[in-house]
Amino acid sequence: MAEPYCNSYYAATANPAGPFSRLEGEIDVDVAIIGGGFTGIATAVELAERGVRVAVLEANRIGWGASGRNGGQVTGSLSGDKAMEKQFRRKLGDEAADFVWNLRWRGQDIIKNRVAKYGIRCDLKHGHMQTAYQPSHIAELEDMYRTACRHGMGDEVEMVYGADLRAHVGTDIYHAGLINRRNMHLHSLNLCLGEADAARSLGAQIFTDSPVEKIIYGERPELVTARGRVCASKVMLAGNGYHHLAPGRLSGLLFPATLGIVATEQLPEDVARSILPQDFAVYDTRFVLDYYRLTADRRLLFGSGTNYKGTASDDIGAPMLPAIRKTFPQLSGVKIDFAWEGQDGITINRIPQLGNVTPNVFYAQGYSGHGIATSHIIGEIMAAAITGDSRDFDVFASARHWRFPVGRYLGNRALAVGMWYFQKLEALR
Ligand SMILES: Cc1cc2nc3c(=O)[nH]c(=O)nc-3n(C[C@H](O)[C@H](O)[C@H](O)COP(=O)(O)OP(=O)(O)OC[C@H]3O[C@@H](n4cnc5c(N)ncnc54)[C@H](O)[C@@H]3O)c2cc1C
Repeated sequence: MAEPYCNSYYAATANPAGPFSRLEGEIDVDVAIIGGGFTGIATAVELAERGVRVAVLEANRIGWGASGRNGGQVTGSLSGDKAMEKQFRRKLGDEAADFVWNLRWRGQDIIKNRVAKYGIRCDLKHGHMQTAYQPSHIAELEDMYRTACRHGMGDEVEMVYGADLRAHVGTDIYHAGLINRRNMHLHSLNLCLGEADAARSLGAQIFTDSPVEKIIYGERPELVTARGRVCASKVMLAGNGYHHLAPGRLSGLLFPATLGIVATEQLPEDVARSILPQDFAVYDTRFVLDYYRLTADRRLLFGSGTNYKGTASDDIGAPMLPAIRKTFPQLSGVKIDFAWEGQDGITINRIPQLGNVTPNVFYAQGYSGHGIATSHIIGEIMAAAITGDSRDFDVFASARHWRFPVGRYLGNRALAVGMWYFQKLEALR
């Protein structure tokens, strides 16, 4: 039985989409995708645009996982960028740095163009500010600023210091900010639903309430659900932190971390304008950071912290309220209307994992908390690989990943210890 959407702001304000129905009976397609989040749906759009017969099987509902629960911040800050550059050098040599830099911004273009092309209503807005939480973090932002300028983004980035920050974010807790006008924020569930409708309009078959129970490998692999079966030339696993398929090949590689997030009650217009006068999305420079933005109906959507053990919280809002009050004392009495959490797949080196279980069964997963833009880039790369151009796929697939052959429970605990260590180190930053 499919699980309903969690109690999120996104689910409460979702656009009508579909209808999507359960898979009943047997179908035959070129490509079958497991998972109806951004990775699965973005790949389906790309494939359908290329004329490929594609089916998506989603266990619950479209955007039910991390894709319909996140902070909605479409950033160019790739998780694992340094590690990528280092590892991709083996395949690309000196071109690795440019490859990673261009990758940063590909997701923004894909999303912006798709939203325009298919008329997706998802409250898309431009503008981010990354804020220095400590004076010692300012140099990092300045370094990013200079790098962006060197790459021709001088018109889109700006450093702001001291009292000038107040024109962008109504708090005194930060020491500097890097504005990035190329980055965006949006209603992520409505983006995912809109993309699913776009894929459908191109002939993709999208099934919900259809958990894949088994993959039968072979020349034409088959996906088995409780009431149906899909036979395909190629299969792609896009279940990210929520799936347990292909255990032999994939176990010990990906660890689902739990991220909590809240949406306040609607704020009066003057209050909303006082905290985020430019309607930017904001995130700070810490390893485990606060990130927030206003929704279209003027709620503060605020995320903070990551539970690397991957377990559910008893009270999601509890750590969030003090963080909100510390950032914006003027919101001291604000009420939380929605509190929810979701799981994202964390990889140890923070590089997304792309590869094959068998030659015709692909997987893509592990964006370590930065998945909106990345999943769209990966969708493009996977669709290209599945249809015969595997240049970018091969670069990712060549990356070496740590594997903890201890099962998810112990692996998540080891990850939690590792991240605790990094957070302690951060105090010295
Ligand atoms: C609280 C939170 C805040 C975040 N904030 C941001 C942010 O602001 N910016 C950003 O860039 N990233 C953010 N992320 C990360 C981002 O949301 C994810 O990286 C991205 O959505 C992952 O997309 P996905 O499609 O790979 O996985 P998911 O969206 O999790 O989708 C996987 C889907 O697969 C389905 N599935 C699993 N097993 C099966 C099966 N056997 N059969 C069929 N279907 C199956 C699941 O039901 C699920 O719907 C956040 C994540 C969370 C949880």
